[in-house]
Amino acid sequence: MTQGVGNVKHVVAVASGKGGVGKSTVSLNLAVAAAQLGYRVGLLDADIYGPSQARLLGIEDGVMPDVVDEKIFLPIEAHGISAMSMAFLTREKTAMVWRGPMASGALQQMIESTRWGELDILLVDMPPGTGDIQLTLSQRTRLSGAVVVTTPQDIALIDARRAIEMFQKVSVPILGMVQNMATHVCSNCGHEDPVFGSEGGDSLAKEYNAEVIADIPLSRQIRETSDAGLPIVLADKEGVVAGIYREAAQTLMKTLNDAQTPTAPTISMTE
Ligand code: ADP
Repeated sequence: MTQGVGNVKHVVAVASGKGGVGKSTVSLNLAVAAAQLGYRVGLLDADIYGPSQARLLGIEDGVMPDVVDEKIFLPIEAHGISAMSMAFLTREKTAMVWRGPMASGALQQMIESTRWGELDILLVDMPPGTGDIQLTLSQRTRLSGAVVVTTPQDIALIDARRAIEMFQKVSVPILGMVQNMATHVCSNCGHEDPVFGSEGGDSLAKEYNAEVIADIPLSRQIRETSDAGLPIVLADKEGVVAGIYREAAQTLMKTLNDAQTPTAPTISMTE
């Protein structure tokens, strides 16, 4: 067991085969929603090529995590969760040019050198794709499972399928899928329109015996609040989307806890 995640009950990867599908936005909102439900939550931004959690969390460029014992980072607390990101260790303008082994090493080091404390769940915002870095991270980190984020377009679904297959290869269970930007909600009249069709994620989930734990609409409010550093679950706490996220977080925690306490086999004795 790695030092950093020693007191973390569940480490869960949030992955997507393709970039730009909203994986970081979903990771953060799921994390804050779980915290709103009373869970102790950490968020690790492992998207080393485009670490965006600092911005999404509203943490200014240049804010660094405290270091204790000369080599242990303390995560930054924001919006009720503990967060750590490569973005905290570099400036926003620094281009991340990593080769595979270097990137995996840096990530592993960041995971192991962070003092997360006691957590119910640590969500790992994975780098997009299904290459060596993702595979190494999935194998070396004690993952309880993965959440796969996709949009309903075929091109994103092909990559989501790759992500699912990758996790299956290393025996990491798929805890749920999040379908993002399936329907468009008009900011004027509230009309909901399934621009890209809304069945794609559902049929992929069915194929792999997984569950779509959230269907998040494409909405301008989500993008605007995200860009402003306030996740939608906080910016519009009583809104529909916040409700969807809290329900998804509840489903996720229940799945994890059910998996942890398998029901004991019953032995019946007959004379
Ligand atoms: P990824 O981590 O997959 O690269 P991001 O979370 O960075 O994707 O999201 C990409 C862009 O899409 C961001 O500008 C974000 O605000 C926006 N976005 C994400 N989800 C939604 C949504 N449901 N509705 C509108 N915009 C969204």
